[in-house]
Amino acid sequence: MKSIEVNNLVKSYGDVRAVRGISFAVEEGAFFALLGPNGAGKSTTVEILATLLAKDEGTVSIMGETLDRDDAKIRRHLGVVFQYGTLDNDLTVRENLAARGAFYGLSGQALQTRIAELDKLIDFTSYLDRRIRTLSGGQRRKAEIARALLHQPRVLMLDEPTTGLDPKSRKDIWALVLSIKKDTAMTILLTTHYMEEVLDADHVVILHEGVIRAEDSAENLRLAYARDTLKIMPKQGLLKKLDQDGVAYERINATVHVPLKNPFEGVDLVGRHREAIESFEIVKASMDDVFLNITGASLEEGTS
Ligand code: ADP
Ligand code: MG
Repeated sequence: MKSIEVNNLVKSYGDVRAVRGISFAVEEGAFFALLGPNGAGKSTTVEILATLLAKDEGTVSIMGETLDRDDAKIRRHLGVVFQYGTLDNDLTVRENLAARGAFYGLSGQALQTRIAELDKLIDFTSYLDRRIRTLSGGQRRKAEIARALLHQPRVLMLDEPTTGLDPKSRKDIWALVLSIKKDTAMTILLTTHYMEEVLDADHVVILHEGVIRAEDSAENLRLAYARDTLKIMPKQGLLKKLDQDGVAYERINATVHVPLKNPFEGVDLVGRHREAIESFEIVKASMDDVFLNITGASLEEGTS
Protein backbone atom coordinates (compact mmCIF):
# COMPACT_ATOMS: atom_id res chain seq x y z
CA MET A 1 0.00 0.00 0.00
CA LYS A 2 1.05 3.58 -0.62
CA SER A 3 1.20 5.75 2.44
CA ILE A 4 1.49 9.01 0.52
CA GLU A 5 0.21 9.67 -3.00
CA VAL A 6 0.66 13.04 -4.65
CA ASN A 7 -0.72 13.75 -8.12
CA ASN A 8 0.02 16.83 -10.16
CA LEU A 9 0.47 19.08 -7.15
CA VAL A 10 0.66 22.79 -8.01
CA LYS A 11 1.27 25.77 -5.73
CA SER A 12 2.15 29.38 -6.51
CA TYR A 13 2.75 32.34 -4.25
CA GLY A 14 1.64 35.18 -6.49
CA ASP A 15 4.04 35.04 -9.44
CA VAL A 16 6.35 32.50 -7.81
CA ARG A 17 5.53 29.03 -9.13
CA ALA A 18 6.91 27.11 -6.17
CA VAL A 19 5.55 23.65 -7.07
CA ARG A 20 4.74 23.02 -10.72
CA GLY A 21 2.81 19.80 -11.03
CA ILE A 22 4.67 17.13 -9.09
CA SER A 23 3.58 13.53 -8.62
CA PHE A 24 5.08 10.88 -6.40
CA ALA A 25 4.07 7.94 -4.25
CA VAL A 26 5.65 6.67 -1.05
CA GLU A 27 5.38 3.00 -0.09
CA GLU A 28 4.23 2.26 3.41
CA GLY A 29 7.23 1.89 5.71
CA ALA A 30 9.63 3.41 3.19
CA PHE A 31 12.33 5.96 3.87
CA PHE A 32 11.70 8.51 1.14
CA ALA A 33 13.93 11.49 0.39
CA LEU A 34 13.06 14.70 -1.41
CA LEU A 35 16.39 16.19 -2.46
CA GLY A 36 16.77 19.72 -3.74
CA PRO A 37 18.53 23.03 -3.16
CA ASN A 38 17.04 26.11 -1.51
CA GLY A 39 13.91 27.22 -3.29
CA ALA A 40 13.20 23.83 -4.89
CA GLY A 41 9.74 23.64 -3.32
CA LYS A 42 10.45 21.14 -0.54
CA SER A 43 8.92 23.09 2.36
CA THR A 44 5.95 24.12 0.27
CA THR A 45 5.28 20.45 -0.47
CA VAL A 46 5.67 19.43 3.18
CA GLU A 47 3.39 22.22 4.40
CA ILE A 48 0.68 21.25 1.92
CA LEU A 49 0.88 17.58 2.91
CA ALA A 50 0.75 18.62 6.56
CA THR A 51 -2.62 20.36 5.88
CA LEU A 52 -1.09 23.73 6.78
CA LEU A 53 -1.02 25.35 3.37
CA ALA A 54 -3.72 25.19 0.68
CA LYS A 55 -2.71 23.73 -2.67
CA ASP A 56 -3.76 25.29 -5.97
CA GLU A 57 -4.21 22.07 -7.94
CA GLY A 58 -3.71 18.35 -7.71
CA THR A 59 -4.65 15.59 -5.32
CA VAL A 60 -2.97 14.25 -2.21
CA SER A 61 -3.83 11.22 -0.15
CA ILE A 62 -2.14 10.12 3.05
CA MET A 63 -2.82 6.68 4.52
CA GLY A 64 -5.79 6.50 2.17
CA GLU A 65 -7.33 9.76 3.42
CA THR A 66 -7.95 12.61 0.99
CA LEU A 67 -6.42 16.01 1.62
CA ASP A 68 -8.99 18.83 1.91
CA ARG A 69 -11.68 16.30 2.84
CA ASP A 70 -10.24 14.23 5.69
CA ASP A 71 -7.68 16.65 7.12
CA ALA A 72 -8.37 15.78 10.75
CA LYS A 73 -7.66 12.09 9.99
CA ILE A 74 -4.55 13.04 8.04
CA ARG A 75 -3.23 15.06 10.99
CA ARG A 76 -3.77 12.02 13.18
CA HIS A 77 -1.62 9.89 10.85
CA LEU A 78 1.14 12.47 10.51
CA GLY A 79 3.99 13.62 12.68
CA VAL A 80 5.73 16.64 11.19
CA VAL A 81 8.93 18.49 11.99
CA PHE A 82 8.90 21.77 10.10
CA GLN A 83 12.09 23.37 8.84
CA TYR A 84 11.75 26.27 11.24
CA GLY A 85 11.00 25.18 14.78
CA THR A 86 7.52 25.62 16.17
CA LEU A 87 8.09 24.80 19.85
CA ASP A 88 7.06 27.34 22.47
CA ASN A 89 10.36 28.86 23.60
CA ASP A 90 9.08 29.84 27.05
CA LEU A 91 7.92 26.36 27.93
CA THR A 92 10.02 23.37 28.88
CA VAL A 93 10.29 20.35 26.62
CA ARG A 94 7.90 18.45 28.89
CA GLU A 95 5.38 21.32 28.85
CA ASN A 96 5.56 21.50 25.05
CA LEU A 97 4.87 17.77 24.91
CA ALA A 98 1.97 18.14 27.37
CA ALA A 99 0.46 20.96 25.30
CA ARG A 100 0.57 18.81 22.19
CA GLY A 101 -0.58 15.74 24.13
CA ALA A 102 -3.72 17.61 25.12
CA PHE A 103 -4.74 17.71 21.42
CA TYR A 104 -4.72 13.95 21.37
CA GLY A 105 -6.28 13.39 24.78
CA LEU A 106 -2.93 12.32 26.18
CA SER A 107 -2.28 13.54 29.72
CA GLY A 108 -1.39 12.45 33.25
CA GLN A 109 0.24 9.06 33.67
CA ALA A 110 -0.35 8.06 30.04
CA LEU A 111 1.58 11.13 28.90
CA GLN A 112 4.48 10.45 31.29
CA THR A 113 4.60 6.83 30.11
CA ARG A 114 4.76 7.97 26.50
CA ILE A 115 7.52 10.47 27.34
CA ALA A 116 9.49 7.67 29.00
CA GLU A 117 9.08 5.55 25.85
CA LEU A 118 10.28 8.43 23.69
CA ASP A 119 13.24 8.94 25.97
CA LYS A 120 14.47 5.43 25.09
CA LEU A 121 14.65 6.52 21.46
CA ILE A 122 15.65 10.15 21.89
CA ASP A 123 17.56 10.26 25.17
CA PHE A 124 16.36 13.69 26.29
CA THR A 125 15.95 13.22 30.06
CA SER A 126 18.72 15.69 30.89
CA TYR A 127 16.87 18.62 29.31
CA LEU A 128 13.25 17.50 29.55
CA ASP A 129 12.50 20.15 32.19
CA ARG A 130 14.45 22.99 30.62
CA ARG A 131 12.92 25.82 28.65
CA ILE A 132 13.32 25.53 24.89
CA ARG A 133 15.13 28.88 24.66
CA THR A 134 17.99 27.50 26.80
CA LEU A 135 18.61 24.48 24.56
CA SER A 136 21.18 23.92 21.82
CA GLY A 137 20.06 23.62 18.21
CA GLY A 138 20.43 19.84 18.30
CA GLN A 139 18.44 19.50 21.54
CA ARG A 140 15.64 21.66 20.13
CA ARG A 141 15.51 19.54 17.01
CA LYS A 142 15.26 16.41 19.17
CA ALA A 143 12.45 17.98 21.16
CA GLU A 144 10.66 18.77 17.87
CA ILE A 145 11.07 15.16 16.77
CA ALA A 146 9.80 13.90 20.15
CA ARG A 147 6.71 16.08 19.82
CA ALA A 148 6.10 14.86 16.26
CA LEU A 149 6.25 11.25 17.49
CA LEU A 150 4.11 11.80 20.59
CA HIS A 151 0.83 10.47 19.16
CA GLN A 152 2.50 7.52 17.41
CA PRO A 153 1.89 8.65 13.85
CA ARG A 154 2.13 6.26 10.88
CA VAL A 155 4.00 8.79 8.77
CA LEU A 156 6.81 11.08 9.89
CA MET A 157 7.75 14.09 7.76
CA LEU A 158 11.04 15.83 8.49
CA ASP A 159 11.76 19.05 6.61
CA GLU A 160 15.54 19.56 6.48
CA PRO A 161 16.02 18.19 10.01
CA THR A 162 19.80 18.65 9.99
CA THR A 163 20.09 22.01 8.24
CA GLY A 164 21.68 24.78 10.27
CA LEU A 165 23.13 22.47 12.92
CA ASP A 166 26.77 22.15 13.89
CA PRO A 167 28.48 18.96 12.58
CA LYS A 168 28.19 17.07 15.89
CA SER A 169 24.46 17.81 16.23
CA ARG A 170 23.91 16.93 12.58
CA LYS A 171 25.48 13.55 13.19
CA ASP A 172 23.37 13.08 16.31
CA ILE A 173 20.11 13.94 14.57
CA TRP A 174 21.01 11.74 11.64
CA ALA A 175 21.68 8.81 13.98
CA LEU A 176 18.26 9.43 15.53
CA VAL A 177 16.58 9.45 12.11
CA LEU A 178 18.25 6.15 11.23
CA SER A 179 17.21 4.56 14.50
CA ILE A 180 13.61 5.70 13.96
CA LYS A 181 13.80 4.06 10.54
CA LYS A 182 15.22 0.87 12.02
CA ASP A 183 13.12 0.57 15.18
CA THR A 184 9.69 1.61 13.94
CA ALA A 185 7.44 0.72 11.02
CA MET A 186 6.81 4.37 10.26
CA THR A 187 6.96 5.79 6.77
CA ILE A 188 9.53 8.59 6.72
CA LEU A 189 9.51 11.45 4.24
CA LEU A 190 12.64 13.53 4.59
CA THR A 191 13.66 16.63 2.72
CA THR A 192 17.29 17.61 2.45
CA HIS A 193 19.87 19.43 0.39
CA TYR A 194 22.65 17.19 1.70
CA MET A 195 23.40 14.54 -0.85
CA GLU A 196 25.01 12.19 1.67
CA GLU A 197 21.70 11.94 3.54
CA VAL A 198 19.88 10.41 0.61
CA LEU A 199 22.27 7.46 0.49
CA ASP A 200 20.28 5.81 3.30
CA ALA A 201 16.93 6.38 1.60
CA ASP A 202 14.94 3.67 -0.19
CA HIS A 203 13.83 6.14 -2.82
CA VAL A 204 15.08 9.56 -3.85
CA VAL A 205 13.12 12.24 -5.69
CA ILE A 206 15.18 15.07 -7.12
CA LEU A 207 13.25 18.32 -7.00
CA HIS A 208 14.48 21.44 -8.76
CA GLU A 209 12.55 24.68 -9.30
CA GLY A 210 9.27 23.01 -8.43
CA VAL A 211 9.72 20.13 -10.88
CA ILE A 212 10.72 16.51 -10.30
CA ARG A 213 13.77 15.96 -12.48
CA ALA A 214 14.52 12.33 -11.62
CA GLU A 215 13.67 9.63 -9.11
CA ASP A 216 15.07 6.24 -8.23
CA SER A 217 17.24 4.59 -5.58
CA ALA A 218 20.37 6.59 -4.79
CA GLU A 219 22.53 3.86 -6.34
CA ASN A 220 20.53 3.75 -9.59
CA LEU A 221 20.65 7.54 -9.86
CA ARG A 222 24.40 7.39 -9.41
CA LEU A 223 24.73 4.71 -12.09
CA ALA A 224 22.48 6.56 -14.51
CA TYR A 225 23.65 10.13 -14.03
CA ALA A 226 27.23 10.14 -12.88
CA ARG A 227 30.37 8.42 -14.03
CA ASP A 228 33.24 7.16 -11.94
CA THR A 229 36.45 8.83 -13.01
CA LEU A 230 39.95 7.47 -13.50
CA LYS A 231 42.41 10.17 -12.49
CA ILE A 232 45.90 9.60 -13.83
CA MET A 233 49.19 11.31 -13.11
CA PRO A 234 50.76 10.66 -16.54
CA LYS A 235 54.30 9.94 -17.65
CA GLN A 236 55.66 11.04 -21.02
CA GLY A 237 53.67 9.74 -23.97
CA LEU A 238 50.43 8.76 -22.23
CA LEU A 239 48.17 11.13 -24.15
CA LYS A 240 49.38 9.80 -27.49
CA LYS A 241 48.72 6.24 -26.34
CA LEU A 242 45.22 7.15 -25.17
CA ASP A 243 44.54 8.81 -28.52
CA GLN A 244 45.70 5.68 -30.34
CA ASP A 245 43.56 3.59 -27.98
CA GLY A 246 40.49 5.73 -28.77
CA VAL A 247 40.00 6.72 -25.12
CA ALA A 248 38.16 9.97 -24.40
CA TYR A 249 39.84 12.01 -21.68
CA GLU A 250 40.11 15.47 -20.22
CA ARG A 251 43.30 17.20 -19.07
CA ILE A 252 42.91 18.97 -15.75
CA ASN A 253 46.12 20.69 -14.65
CA ALA A 254 48.78 18.00 -14.55
CA THR A 255 46.30 15.11 -14.41
CA VAL A 256 44.30 13.23 -17.01
CA HIS A 257 40.67 12.34 -16.26
CA VAL A 258 38.93 9.47 -18.00
CA PRO A 259 35.17 8.99 -17.43
CA LEU A 260 34.40 5.31 -16.78
CA LYS A 261 31.39 3.08 -17.32
CA ASN A 262 32.59 1.05 -14.36
CA PRO A 263 35.72 0.73 -12.21
CA PHE A 264 36.97 -2.36 -14.09
CA GLU A 265 37.20 -0.36 -17.29
CA GLY A 266 39.66 1.83 -15.38
CA VAL A 267 41.66 -1.12 -14.15
CA ASP A 268 41.92 -2.51 -17.70
CA LEU A 269 43.02 0.85 -19.06
CA VAL A 270 45.69 1.20 -16.40
CA GLY A 271 46.88 -2.31 -17.22
CA ARG A 272 47.21 -1.50 -20.93
CA HIS A 273 49.14 1.74 -20.38
CA ARG A 274 50.93 0.99 -17.18
CA GLU A 275 54.40 2.04 -18.39
CA ALA A 276 53.11 5.56 -19.17
CA ILE A 277 51.34 6.04 -15.82
CA GLU A 278 53.02 7.55 -12.79
CA SER A 279 50.07 6.95 -10.44
CA PHE A 280 46.27 6.81 -10.56
CA GLU A 281 43.08 6.68 -8.55
CA ILE A 282 39.50 5.77 -9.36
CA VAL A 283 37.05 8.27 -7.91
CA LYS A 284 33.47 7.16 -7.35
CA ALA A 285 30.76 9.44 -8.68
CA SER A 286 29.00 11.36 -5.92
CA MET A 287 25.36 12.36 -5.49
CA ASP A 288 26.58 15.94 -6.00
CA ASP A 289 27.64 14.96 -9.51
CA VAL A 290 24.25 13.30 -10.02
CA PHE A 291 22.43 16.46 -9.04
CA LEU A 292 24.68 18.63 -11.19
CA ASN A 293 24.28 16.36 -14.21
CA ILE A 294 20.51 16.22 -13.89
CA THR A 295 19.77 19.87 -13.18
CA GLY A 296 22.85 21.79 -14.28
CA ALA A 297 22.75 23.39 -10.82
CA SER A 298 24.68 22.70 -7.67
CA LEU A 299 22.94 21.55 -4.50
CA GLU A 300 24.76 23.98 -2.27
CA GLU A 301 24.27 27.13 -4.32
CA GLY A 302 20.53 26.72 -4.65
CA THR A 303 18.44 28.53 -7.19
CA SER A 304 17.01 31.52 -5.42
P1 ADP B 1 12.65 24.82 -0.28
O1 ADP B 1 12.00 24.38 0.99
O2 ADP B 1 12.98 23.71 -1.21
O3 ADP B 1 13.83 25.71 -0.03
P2 ADP B 1 10.29 26.47 -0.58
O4 ADP B 1 9.12 25.56 -0.73
O5 ADP B 1 10.52 27.09 0.74
O6 ADP B 1 11.60 25.71 -1.09
O7 ADP B 1 10.18 27.65 -1.64
C1 ADP B 1 9.87 27.44 -3.01
C2 ADP B 1 9.76 28.79 -3.70
O8 ADP B 1 8.64 29.49 -3.19
C3 ADP B 1 10.97 29.69 -3.48
O9 ADP B 1 11.16 30.44 -4.66
C4 ADP B 1 10.51 30.59 -2.33
O10 ADP B 1 11.17 31.83 -2.38
C5 ADP B 1 9.04 30.73 -2.62
N1 ADP B 1 8.22 30.93 -1.39
C6 ADP B 1 8.15 30.08 -0.34
N2 ADP B 1 7.28 30.54 0.59
C7 ADP B 1 6.81 31.71 0.12
C8 ADP B 1 5.86 32.68 0.62
N3 ADP B 1 5.23 32.51 1.78
N4 ADP B 1 5.62 33.76 -0.16
C9 ADP B 1 6.23 33.92 -1.35
N5 ADP B 1 7.11 33.06 -1.89
C10 ADP B 1 7.40 31.95 -1.16
MG1 MG C 1 12.61 24.54 2.91
